[in-house]
Amino acid sequence: MKKNLEQVWYNCLSIIKDNVSLQAYKTWFEPIKPIKIKEGVITIQVPSQFFYEWLEEHYIELLRKTIRKEIGPESKLEYSIVMENNYTNSKPYTVKIPTTNKKALKNPSVAMPLDIGASPIKNPFVIPGLRKVNVDSNLNPNYSFENFVEGDCNRLARSAGYAVANKPGGTAFNPLLIYGGVGLGKTHLAHSIGIEIKNEFPEKTVLYVSSEKFTHQFIDAVKNNNTNDFIHFYQMIDVLIIDDVQFFAGKEKTQDVFFTIFNHLHQTGKQLVLTSDKPPVELQGMEQRLLSRFKWGLSADLQSPTLETRIAILQKKMYADGIDLPKEVVEYLAYSITTNIRELEGALISLIAQSSLNKKAITLELAKQMIDKFVKNTAREVSIDYIQKVVCDYFDLPIELLKSKTRKREVVQARQIAMFFAKKMTKSSLANIGMHCGGKDHATVLHACRTVNNLSETDKTFRGYLEDLNKKLSIQ
Ligand code: ADP
Ligand code: MG
Repeated sequence: MKKNLEQVWYNCLSIIKDNVSLQAYKTWFEPIKPIKIKEGVITIQVPSQFFYEWLEEHYIELLRKTIRKEIGPESKLEYSIVMENNYTNSKPYTVKIPTTNKKALKNPSVAMPLDIGASPIKNPFVIPGLRKVNVDSNLNPNYSFENFVEGDCNRLARSAGYAVANKPGGTAFNPLLIYGGVGLGKTHLAHSIGIEIKNEFPEKTVLYVSSEKFTHQFIDAVKNNNTNDFIHFYQMIDVLIIDDVQFFAGKEKTQDVFFTIFNHLHQTGKQLVLTSDKPPVELQGMEQRLLSRFKWGLSADLQSPTLETRIAILQKKMYADGIDLPKEVVEYLAYSITTNIRELEGALISLIAQSSLNKKAITLELAKQMIDKFVKNTAREVSIDYIQKVVCDYFDLPIELLKSKTRKREVVQARQIAMFFAKKMTKSSLANIGMHCGGKDHATVLHACRTVNNLSETDKTFRGYLEDLNKKLSIQ
């Protein structure tokens, strides 16, 4: 049966859209152009090598399933990559990529049928004769301690994690409960502990599992009448890492079975590592006996990273990806995205993708546009901190002076200008602006704004400063 290219790709996109975030969809899938479909092979054009590699690394499963569903079980996927040079007339070159597995990539000229994964692997605990060493730990090697940037915001949790990793089951931190808001590194740290233990003690059975997966496995086990296998499987683990335990809230049966497993592991000196988006006291819908056990060990929190840590994290990611960004761009990202490391990373990646897509250099301009488009909460408004930094850079003053109470003339003027822009560009109250700028009161801020307005009308040089700064600060 002949299938219409546009229609097929449209259908694929709607499946994909349901399975990835809007940002990911816009960044990675909208720029794809379907080229042709012939004998079950669909060719899609991607804007650069970087795109192709990214898709292969992150979305190959999704693409494979989607394409198989839309075109048929024998279907194949081919990429056509637009050459990354500026010669007009350059013909896109094509690599044929079997969507089966990574190994096959070594021989990219053969397109292979999409047959891997046709029968999903069953839960490990129902495989008879399971040997301990066979348990797949489910650890993501990228989430290592080396890749985890240390800062005040995570010092306690990190060092407790490190201690646990070096002596699993043998510290007072059992269980170790890591808690904190979204995107602050709970999952990363939980993996780091697992990875480190695997390195140090290869004979130990380590298992990372999300509480969601644990719950589903348990429900299946109940359905299939093998709850005992399920419990036995979990009881033979040496280091059990359960991510996002808040998901157990309100699920009594799952909590009961987890309680049994927890007790067994704890009594036999095995290590438990748990993460949660709330501290134990705030976990509603959780049985008291379970909560009290969570408190046996150590609860360590992860907080929002400071500016220095945010910059360090960005630099680490750039280094890992072999990318070099201008300092001002890194600082802009770190200043604009303050609460969530996942968003920070997302912005960096989108920026790289945008630049690769448009074949434009990564500039402050591009960063501003991108942030404006993608980052919902933080970006529309520049922060007072950022304004202060830009003003200080412009006048070549240390930011500490601006925040101090000094009355030196040049500092007073820069401070007034910072207040003026803060009033103009943020929704902060006058009192809050004053507090940020050397602990002044709201009347001082008001006075500063008037002074700046007056000066800009009478003093041409001064007006020039404001125009420069306005350009630097405004988000397109
Ligand atoms: P959570 O589980 O708390 O929602 P994640 O562990 O998934 O957060 O972290 C979100 C992203 O931020 C991940 O890609 C992670 O690698 C990164 N990340 C978080 N904390 C750090 C850190 N201290 N250093 C480097 N990367 C970090
Ligand atoms: Mg997580």
